Amino acid sequence: MSLELCSTVSDFRDACDAIRASGRSLGLVPTMGALHSGHMALVDYARQQASSVAVSLFVNPTQFGPNEDLSRYPRDLAGDLEKCEAHGVSLIFAPPASEMYASDESTRVVVRGLTDGLCGAARPGHFDGVATIVTKLFAVVGPSIAVFGRKDYQQLKVVQRLVRDLLLPVRIFAHPTVREADGLALSSRNAYLTQEQRQRARAIPRGLLRAMHSFARGERRAVVLRDSVRDELGHAHLEAEYVTLADPESLAPVELGGAVGSTALLALAARIGSTRLIDNVVLGEETALSVSEEGSKAEGSEHA
Ligand code: AMP
Repeated sequence: MSLELCSTVSDFRDACDAIRASGRSLGLVPTMGALHSGHMALVDYARQQASSVAVSLFVNPTQFGPNEDLSRYPRDLAGDLEKCEAHGVSLIFAPPASEMYASDESTRVVVRGLTDGLCGAARPGHFDGVATIVTKLFAVVGPSIAVFGRKDYQQLKVVQRLVRDLLLPVRIFAHPTVREADGLALSSRNAYLTQEQRQRARAIPRGLLRAMHSFARGERRAVVLRDSVRDELGHAHLEAEYVTLADPESLAPVELGGAVGSTALLALAARIGSTRLIDNVVLGEETALSVSEEGSKAEGSEHA
């Protein structure tokens, strides 16, 4: 079936209804567009889990703060269409903001606790925007599965939690982070980097890898693990917004004076010039930074 592009909620809802009415299962991959191989790996994985896949391309204004990059966020509808066609996507949804938010809208989906730390601390309201748009997309599409990337680990946990708490009939799959050959996580925001900044950005995977190696050698002191990342960022003159060890499920931070358990989320946000990049690994779960999207296996979880 050929790719169909919808820009209104009503057209998209009808197209999704028609797919489900024909007995096909529907998978959703929500994105903000400017698609790269990381996004396409999620699409490929969704296609293995559902007979038809819908991709949303929507730069969601409610998840951007007043001084963030909403207006300059990269957009490439023609390129996105081409990639989606090549990867067998059935439906694309690229609405204007007015389709998703009425001018007098007054509803937010708020996930408490999980959103207090990490990116939530520096981006107040960000996860309310994320939780709200994801809930709206689920309401329009009615997907049986949806795929999210572990690159945005806190977002993944927020979505899993809202699906569980609101009893939504959708199964959430998590896909591993897809990386460049030198380990940098693919991100639409990498397009902002100059060549020199792109080189310096290699400190991010280098730091994560150093922490993974020292964890593998038995290091459990939170401060030492954290500092292996902070030191690498510092040497490359990247400004660390946070480098945090946390419980991989509750996202509760591990005290710096304490020790991590058998697994720990090591997550960071760093600024290079005006570009903010995030990355993470789960120590004790991941033993290497996978650089290949080929054969990377996603993990399914109903409500973890
Ligand atoms: P975005 O367009 O940045 O909102 O991302 C859309 C989806 O793609 C989210 O579930 C992200 O976690 C996921 N994603 C973005 N970059 C990567 C990556 N490098 N590897 C895996 N998933 C990713």
